[in-house]
This record gives sequence, structure tokens and C-alpha cells, in this order.
Amino acid sequence: MVNRELYNIGKARTVIRRLFDYGKEQRKLGNVVYDFSLGNPNVQPPKEVIDEIKRLADENPNGLHEYTLGPGLESTRRAVADNLNQRFGLELDWKYVFMTCGASPCLRASFEALKESADDEIVVLAPYFPEYPLFIKNAGLKPVIVPCNDDLTPNFDALEKAINPHTKAVIVNSPNNPSGIVYDEKTTNKLVAVMRKKQDELNRPLVMITDEPYRELVYNGQKEHCFAADYDNSIICYSFSKSLSLPGERIGYVAVNPKMQGADEMYWALSGAIRMLGYVCAPAMFQRVIEKCVNSKPNIEQYRKNHDLLFDNLTRIGFECTASYGAFYICIKAPNGDSEGLSELAKSLGILIIPCDEFGAKGFVRIAYCVNEQTILDSIPAFEKLYELLNK
Ligand code: PLP
Repeated sequence: MVNRELYNIGKARTVIRRLFDYGKEQRKLGNVVYDFSLGNPNVQPPKEVIDEIKRLADENPNGLHEYTLGPGLESTRRAVADNLNQRFGLELDWKYVFMTCGASPCLRASFEALKESADDEIVVLAPYFPEYPLFIKNAGLKPVIVPCNDDLTPNFDALEKAINPHTKAVIVNSPNNPSGIVYDEKTTNKLVAVMRKKQDELNRPLVMITDEPYRELVYNGQKEHCFAADYDNSIICYSFSKSLSLPGERIGYVAVNPKMQGADEMYWALSGAIRMLGYVCAPAMFQRVIEKCVNSKPNIEQYRKNHDLLFDNLTRIGFECTASYGAFYICIKAPNGDSEGLSELAKSLGILIIPCDEFGAKGFVRIAYCVNEQTILDSIPAFEKLYELLNK
């Protein structure tokens, strides 16, 4: 009677969900938990975003709650294109910017828009957001996972080997979930060189899909970066979920690089995919908020403080951490590669951290530090105990 595959996906409780629910139960029972499981920003949206939401709600301008055209309001699309062009020296055309309900539909639609045959593949660089393989398969393509180096940085030899005549695109995510790693200039240049080389060999466009919801969340001298500045055949998938702390409002955009070969075709295929997925339009009120606040910045200082506090303490205690200077994630290495075991032991001490095997980072555990500073401070003795138990 129902689609079994979708039933199973719907019924499955991810490890993140399980730990998050466990945390909720424990809090109800009055037990202390240090919940580092979810990537739900704790920093409030910038003041101007809240002010604009209030102003719109109070003034209720004409059409505030009406459908917009599928791709969104022209004024919002222009504001997004202008903002990216100014900041990253791009030459985006607002007509190739499509407002969406966050980054997830951008990704799902990009995969589907590229699908021409059942043999088509999308190459995924590990570590990766676990929805990628699901979205790719559901769009009718094959995910090809490229394993990373031991320190969770991209393995370019493996990438070169993975790209073959069936490859339609490579998906790139920096700052990265789950590792928190930000590609530096050398890494970006290497990635672009490999993509260009393989594209020349294939003698056709090889698309780079860049998933950039954490673009602005960079610390320690790392620079905000947009990959479309380096690679013409690219599609930008973006979300304001993290940068403006609006995950529940579902607002983002997908933009086709106008320098892409066949940019116009790509845009219309994306537009068709989003329509067929039934998204109708992005939330009308939040399109207006973005138009006014596209230049707003998150409270980076708070995340930086959290990062430093956690990173410094974890390394002092003796944990091996990834060189994570972006998003709001740090990964630690599990002894003997047993990430499930580490997560379970941590849970017994009230620390909720996510084993990363599902993220293609086998043997690592993710700590999401988008929490109150006090939670981090309070959790340090528990992390000390955890290390002690691990090394007994
Ligand atoms: N891509 C990555 C790497 C993410 O971490 C997330 C959410 O956590 C998404 C995409 C989806 O973002 P959105 O909430 O905008 O759909």
C-alpha cells in the first residue's frame, strides 16, 4: 500500500534524533545533560532581523502573506545577487537566483536537475551531511563517496579516481558539517585544479555543487569564501538557517553561476525540479526580511568564544581534535575508532555527542558548540572524567 523505501526512511530515527530525544527525556526527569547533539543555532538572530520581522508584522504591507512567483520576489533576488557580487567579485545575474525553503531543497533539486540517465553519479567528498546520499538516490542518481584523509581533510587522489564518465557533479561543503574544517586557499586551489583537469578529460562540464550554509561562520583568520568565484560551472546552495539563526523559517536560495556552460538550461531545470518537488515558493515574509537584511552578520564572537573554550579544554584534557575553525562543530577522535562506544560512554556522563560514521567520518565524534557558553563550562569536568575512563 505504501512505498516501503520511503516508509523505512520515515520510520528511521537518526542517531542525532535519538540523542536529542534522550536529552529531552533526561531534562524532563531533572537530570543534567550537556547537549551537543544538534546543529540548531543558539545565538539569536541579529537585531535588525528581529526588528524587520516586527516591522513587517506590524505594518502588514500589501501582499505580505501572498504567494510570490516560484523563484521569489525580484527585489529579494536582486538583493541576494548584489550582495554576493559585491562581497565575492562575482557577476551573478539576479535572474539565476531562486529563493528556496533553506538549503535542503536546493541540494535535492540540483541533483535532480542534473539527472539525464540512470547511470549518472554525484561525487560526495567525505565527511558529508548525511542527507546527501538520500537526496541523490531519491533524485535517481548514484552517490559516490570519496573517503577523506585521516584528519578529515579532502583526499584529492581519491577524488581524481572517483570522477568518471558518469560523474555529473561533485558536492563540496566548506565550512564543513561535521568536521568544522574550512578549506584554506591551498585546498580550494587544489580542488579547483582537480575539477578542471577532470572536466578537460571528460570534455564536458563537470559541475561543482557548493553547499554553503556555514559560509559566514569562520574564525581564527579564516576568510568567508564563495566557490563560484573560483569555478565557473558551479551551483551555489545557500541557507540563512545558520548565518542568521533562522532554521525554522526555511529560507535560502540556489544560484546558478552565469559563467556556467549552459547556465540558462541549468536554471530552468532547477526551476522545474523545485516545482515538481512541490515547494511552490519560499516564505513570502522571510523573502522580505532577507531583502532588507542580506548584509546582516551573525554574532560570530559568541561562536568563536565557544569554539576556543571547547577546543582549548579538549586538547588540554588530551582529546585529539580536528583543526576545526568554522561552522559550529568540532570532531574528536575515538580511541580504537569506536565512535559509537565513545558516544555511549559520554552519554553515561550526560554528554550528548554524535558518532560520525554516518557522516563518512568513521571513528570520529561530532560536538556541536552552538550552545550556551555555560553549558560548555559546566561540561568540562564531565569531559575530564570521560578521558579518564577512556584511558583507564
Ligand atoms: N547542508 C549542511 C551541510 C547542513 O549542515 C544543513 C543543516 O544542518 C543543511 C545543508 C540543510 O540546511 P537547511 O536547514 O537550510 O535545509
